[in-house]
Amino acid sequence: MSSGYETVIGLEIHVQLKTRSKVFAPVPYLFGGELDPKAITPNTLIDPVVLALPGALPVLNRRALEQSVRFGLLVGAQIPALTNWDRKNYFYPDSPKNYQITQKDHPVTLGGEVEIELPGPARNIMGEHKIIRLNHAHLEEDVGKLTHTGTGSLVDYNRAGAALLEIVTEPDLRSPEEAVALLNALRMLLVTAGIADCDMEKGQMRCDANVSVRTHGETVLNTRTEMKNLNTISGVKNAIAYEARRQIREVEAGRTIRQETRGWNADTGRTYPLRSKEDAHDYRYFPDPDLMPVKVSPEEQSRLAATLPERPYDRQRRYMEQYKLPFTVTSVFVPDRSLCEYFEAAAHAHPANPSAVANLIANDLLGALAAAARKDGAATPDITFTGEPDAAATQPLSLADCPVKPAQLAGLVKLTDEDVISRQQAKEVFAAMFATGRDAAAIVDEKGLRQSSDTGAIEKIILDVLALPSSAKPISEFKAGNEKALNSLKGPIMKASQGKANPKLVDEILRRLIV
Ligand code: ADP
Ligand code: MG
Repeated sequence: MSSGYETVIGLEIHVQLKTRSKVFAPVPYLFGGELDPKAITPNTLIDPVVLALPGALPVLNRRALEQSVRFGLLVGAQIPALTNWDRKNYFYPDSPKNYQITQKDHPVTLGGEVEIELPGPARNIMGEHKIIRLNHAHLEEDVGKLTHTGTGSLVDYNRAGAALLEIVTEPDLRSPEEAVALLNALRMLLVTAGIADCDMEKGQMRCDANVSVRTHGETVLNTRTEMKNLNTISGVKNAIAYEARRQIREVEAGRTIRQETRGWNADTGRTYPLRSKEDAHDYRYFPDPDLMPVKVSPEEQSRLAATLPERPYDRQRRYMEQYKLPFTVTSVFVPDRSLCEYFEAAAHAHPANPSAVANLIANDLLGALAAAARKDGAATPDITFTGEPDAAATQPLSLADCPVKPAQLAGLVKLTDEDVISRQQAKEVFAAMFATGRDAAAIVDEKGLRQSSDTGAIEKIILDVLALPSSAKPISEFKAGNEKALNSLKGPIMKASQGKANPKLVDEILRRLIV
C-alpha cells in the first residue's frame, strides 16, 4: 500500500438466519441448519408465496423477526418500537416477483457495535481489539439462484424467500485485515447465539464491500465503489486490497473515482465494473401493502435478551481473569458455546484447579472427539476462517454425544490433584472413561492404579532399596550435592512398589531417610 493513503471500508453482510422456514412463507428451508439446500432437488422448496402467484399473501415468520431482534440486542443496537417492510422494485431473473421485500426507513435494529480482534504478533498473543460501529440491520428475503449453461440459464427458487439479515457497518474499517476480523467476530457472535450458521461455502454469509481511499489525516469520505457478492474470506481480503490499490493508482494519475458497483474475479485477482451505482430513488421503494408493521414490545425484548449467551470476547476476558486460563486455550473455547458451557460445568464441579480442567478439555477431550469422528466416518466439511481459501476440515463428534460428562471429567482432575493417580496415569484413565462412559474412580480401582500414600509401607520399601549394595554410589553422590543421583534411587523404589507409590511422598521420605 502506498504510504500516505488510508483505505476506508464499510461492509454490508448478508446472513441467512437460522429459521425452520422461509421469511414470508411456511416453506421449509434450513431445518435448523441440518438441511443443505444445495442437496435438494431444484424448485421443490416453493409455494405460491415464494413464486409470487397472483393472490398469494406473505406472512411474517415470527422466528425470523426474533432472530433479528436477538442479533440487535447482542450488539447493543436500538430496537425501534415499530418496524415495517418495503418493496424494492427491480427485475432480476432470480427473483420471481419484480421486487424484493426488504426494509428501508424502519429497519429492525439501529446502531450497535461489534468488537473485533486483529491478528496478534504471534498465535499465542492476543491481538489489538477495536470497536466497529454498525449503522443498522434489516430483515429481507433472499433471491433464487441462476445457473448459466452453454445453451441457456436455469433458475432455482429453493433459496428464494429465505430469511436474510443484512448487517450494515459504518465506514469504520481501515484495512482488509480489519474487514476479515469483522467477519470473524460477527460469525462468532451469530454462531454462538444460534442466530445463523454463517457457512460461507453454503452461501449462508455473503458480503458487499464498499471501499474508498483518502490521504492520511483527511476526514471526508471520498467517492467509494462497492464490490458485490464476496463469498469467501480470501475474496473479501483480496478484493479490498486490489480495489484500494486501483483507486490510489487512479488518484495518483489525476483521475476521479466513479461511484460504481464492481465485481471480483478471483481468477484474475482483479475487480471489474458491473454497473454505475443505483440511488435509492431508482428502486421506487414503498411500504409493502401486504405486510403489517410490527411492534416489538419491551417485554418481548427482555424475553429474547434472556436467551442470549455472553459475548465471546467478554467471555474470553473473563476466562483469562477469573480462571487464569492462557489466551490460547480461551481462543479454542470461546467460538464454541457448548464447549464453554462444558468447561464451566466441569470447572464448577472442581473449582480448585480450572487450568487443569481446561487443559484436559483442550487436549485430551477435543482430541478424543475428533478421533471418534474420524473413526465413525462422521466427517462433514466445515469452513475455517483462516483467510486461506476455505478449506474442508473434519467436524468433531458433538459434545452432546460425548461419553464423558463435565462432572466426570472434573472427577478425574480431582483424583490427579489429590495424587491418587499420576498425570501420566490420568491420560490412560481418560481414554478408558471416553471408551466406556464410566467414572474415573471406578476405572482407577478396577485397574488398580490408586497410588499408595501409606507412609509406613513406602518407608519400608525405601529402606530396603537404600540397603542394596548398588545404592551406595548414588547415595554418596547425592550427599556430595548431586541432585540427579536421587533419580537412580527412585527408579528401583517405584519398581518395588509396582508403580503405586505416590511420587511426591517418595521424594520427601527419601530425602529424610538419606541424611
Ligand atoms: P447505500 O444506501 O447506497 O447502500 P450507505 O450510505 O447506506 O449507501 O452505505 C452503504 C455502505 O457503504 C455502508 O457500509 C457504509 O459504511 C459504506 N460507505 C459509505 N460511504 C463510504 C465511503 N466513502 N467509503 C467507504 N465506505 C462507505
Ligand atoms: Mg446498500
